[in-house]
Amino acid sequence: MTAPAYDPDNIFAKILRGEIPSFKLYEDADTYAFMDIMPRADGHCLVIPKTPCRNVLDASPEQLAAVMKTVQVMAHAVMKAFGAGGVTLQQFNEAVGGQEVFHLHFHILPRHEGVALRPPGKMADMEVLKAQAEQIRAALG
Ligand code: 5GP
Repeated sequence: MTAPAYDPDNIFAKILRGEIPSFKLYEDADTYAFMDIMPRADGHCLVIPKTPCRNVLDASPEQLAAVMKTVQVMAHAVMKAFGAGGVTLQQFNEAVGGQEVFHLHFHILPRHEGVALRPPGKMADMEVLKAQAEQIRAALG
């Protein structure tokens, strides 16, 4: 089955172009990391490639490698920032796979013993998100 074409007007493409705001955590030449606005755990963040692709199915090996490198950087940073014992990674492919924004992204969710993920879809308090972003940036050093 052929996947639909990449839509350059998806939300994350707009974030990359600076057309809508985001709480930036980290960037390098190929990737960008920022806070998820509906966090399912404190420190829930997203890593995306700067170049277009919908998801893992159409990403190039280079895009995947660059994104995973940043995922590892951010996993360490959120664990340090929130004193987490581990992280859960989530990544969805196409609508039937649970994807809602069609620009490749990995979710990084800091985890604590006995603490369940919150349900999806609840917008964060922007002041709290801003403070948490500062905490993560500080942990990046
Ligand atoms: P997914 O495609 O992985 O199912 O879900 C997309 C994710 O993007 C959700 O976790 C949602 O909270 C997040 N998200 C949706 N719109 C925005 C936005 O405008 N800004 C940010 N930072 N995150 C968003």
